[in-house]
Amino acid sequence: MREERKGMLIVVSGAAGTGKGTICHELLTWDQTIRFSVSVTTRKPRPQEVEGVHYYFITEERYDELLAQDAFVEHATVHGHRYGTLKSEVDSLIENGFNVLLDIDSQGAKEVIRQRPDCVSIFILPPSYQALRDRLEKRNTEDPDEIERRMHNAYGEIALKHLYQYNVVNDDLDTAVNAVRAIVTAEKQRTTRYFPVVE
Ligand code: 5GP
Repeated sequence: MREERKGMLIVVSGAAGTGKGTICHELLTWDQTIRFSVSVTTRKPRPQEVEGVHYYFITEERYDELLAQDAFVEHATVHGHRYGTLKSEVDSLIENGFNVLLDIDSQGAKEVIRQRPDCVSIFILPPSYQALRDRLEKRNTEDPDEIERRMHNAYGEIALKHLYQYNVVNDDLDTAVNAVRAIVTAEKQRTTRYFPVVE
């Protein structure tokens, strides 16, 4: 059957330690039509992180240049580091027919939702603040100060959960992943982005 599809922008946010990264990863391996939008950041790479895969790691000077060139769909300072979604990254993926996944914080999500109201927005929640703290401590990628900073930010992020079209609680990972897949599956069938041609 002949059909046409318009690519969609999927915005996923959630405080650090909610399992948002794992859920995004599951989504990307499950559906090859979804591509990750690689952001720029001024943060230093973590040991397993790869340039151009997880982020484009750039200097403060380069970030300022990109800002001056109006190169960002959105940008924000998160946990003291600067992050931005490149217009070029998102537009080239959409033009090539892909659905684009943005893993961004709620300041950035607010901006994307404003600019691109047809985007699909999903917020991942922890089952409790204690569970969030446990996960951050277990992950062992941040020092205690950084954990406190991330916990503090979590309260602010979670207060904005109503901005999103969908809220998903990650208590059990499989259940949360299934919920996100169901959202994406349904959103693909919207008449605004799916055009089947009946011969
Ligand atoms: P991390 O440094 O742990 O990779 O990410 C910290 C936070 O920054 C996460 O909440 C992540 O979603 C967010 N983030 C990553 N890239 C971007 C971006 O391009 N824009 C915004 N607004 N947030 C981002």
